[in-house]
Amino acid sequence: MDKKNLIEELAQIVGVENVFHEPEDLVTYQYDAYLSRAMPDFVVFPTTTEQVSEILKVASREKVPFVARGAGTGISGGAIPVKGGMVVALSRMNKILEVDFENRRARVQPGVINLDLSHAIKDKGFHYIPDPASQQSCTIGGNVAENAGGPHCLAYGVTTNHVLGLTVVLPNGEIIHTGGKALDYPGYDLTGLLVGSEGTLGIVTEIVVRIEHRPEAVKTLLASFSNMLDAAKTVSAIIASGTIPAALEMMDKPAIEAVEAFAHAGYPVEAAAVLLIELEGLKDGMDRLAKKIVEICQSHKAIEVKVAQNEQERMQLWKGRKCAAGAIGRICNKYYLHDCVVPRNKLVAVLSEIYQIAEKYQVRVANVFHAGDGNLHPLVPMDMSDRDQVERALRAGDEILKCCIQAGGTLSGEHGIGLEKNELMPLIFNEADLNAMKKVKAVFNPEDLCNPGKIFPTPGRCLEVTQRPR
Ligand SMILES: Cc1cc2nc3c(=O)[nH]c(=O)nc-3n(C[C@H](O)[C@H](O)[C@H](O)COP(=O)(O)OP(=O)(O)OC[C@H]3O[C@@H](n4cnc5c(N)ncnc54)[C@H](O)[C@@H]3O)c2cc1C
Repeated sequence: MDKKNLIEELAQIVGVENVFHEPEDLVTYQYDAYLSRAMPDFVVFPTTTEQVSEILKVASREKVPFVARGAGTGISGGAIPVKGGMVVALSRMNKILEVDFENRRARVQPGVINLDLSHAIKDKGFHYIPDPASQQSCTIGGNVAENAGGPHCLAYGVTTNHVLGLTVVLPNGEIIHTGGKALDYPGYDLTGLLVGSEGTLGIVTEIVVRIEHRPEAVKTLLASFSNMLDAAKTVSAIIASGTIPAALEMMDKPAIEAVEAFAHAGYPVEAAAVLLIELEGLKDGMDRLAKKIVEICQSHKAIEVKVAQNEQERMQLWKGRKCAAGAIGRICNKYYLHDCVVPRNKLVAVLSEIYQIAEKYQVRVANVFHAGDGNLHPLVPMDMSDRDQVERALRAGDEILKCCIQAGGTLSGEHGIGLEKNELMPLIFNEADLNAMKKVKAVFNPEDLCNPGKIFPTPGRCLEVTQRPR
């Protein structure tokens, strides 16, 4: 079928105003927050599961590749249409369909913005826990696809621990339902398989999530240190003490300086590292718990420990952490934000190696990370118009990843593999591992029309960063 007929058929399904095909309407959809880009041929905006099903039946019949898109905040290139074809944009499927407070469940469309769900249920004393730093803009569908994390996932688990059921349109247009409001459905755990599958097995059109009571009391502390080693030892000591904070975040000096210049959050710019620690629970005993954490920090040579005295001070401390990437974005025209994981006891060794790698490649690096999880986010600011600088930043990034893996860590904590790291997958999986995953993909997505080119190494390409698509 030619392009004109395809556009007409898609317009019959979703309405002419919900199909974009002019080049000027498509440019925004060639990006996400990664560095590459690729132009789609169409962007389609469905509003129902049935429309998604009809769209995918057309794509399957006409052999058109397609990729689901939430808000395009993904950092591993997952929503980039590397083979052209169709972007299925879920942003207009943004309704909260049901909130069942009694059973602590909500049923949402995939285009609901993460933070909007918490806002919608706040008055009843509830919230949705997974809270990526991008929660003001990313969608729950995108969170499901990437198995997103966030500061409060240390104590409560990442997206997969909060998703109970899904409605999914398979690449041939079939609609399936997995799990549901209840716990422990029989049969294969397809919900578990689909969460984190990076949009390669189908398009998620409804999600049943847990919602939780907001805690009775919250205490937020900021501890500053004159060296990284003391801060990292404090992280281990807090966890070893048997108290798991709701959040345990860390920033190094370059990140603190960038954040303070922008957010004026009260972070001490003279510190080499800060820990942002949040405790949650019952009012009773909260002060005692906070005192215990202050003592642990002090016994590990904290220069200062501030305890937020009210909600405004608490929000100010969090503003510093949540806007860190944006603050670093002000000092450069692009940054490369990495996402790797190391065992907690290797934090210091890996961080010092990261600084050495940055020096070797003559790039700057700022570190903002979920220290409690060992999930590092080195940010490498760069000038995209300087090809040599971009090349050095990419090479430094690959070396940082390899160093994390050598330390017993892994390739991604929460941003996914996408097309950013697909060539690096053999560093952690052998051929049999990868083949088993590919067989699963082939069951759902036999023609590889659904988000092609992601997760798995592409035959014929090697590990060279220079061969990454731009
Ligand atoms: C400043 C900043 C901070 C961030 N902080 C965090 C963080 O703390 N934790 C974290 O986990 N991530 C973080 N991210 C990364 C990003 O926000 C998450 O990966 C998020 O889950 C992506 O959601 P999205 O709606 O933007 O998805 P998109 O970028 O649109 O898509 C991401 C992937 O999901 C697939 N997808 C989207 N919707 C669907 C669907 N309905 N069905 C099937 N597949 C779908 C796409 O095909 C793609 O592969 C951050 C990003 C930025 C820019």
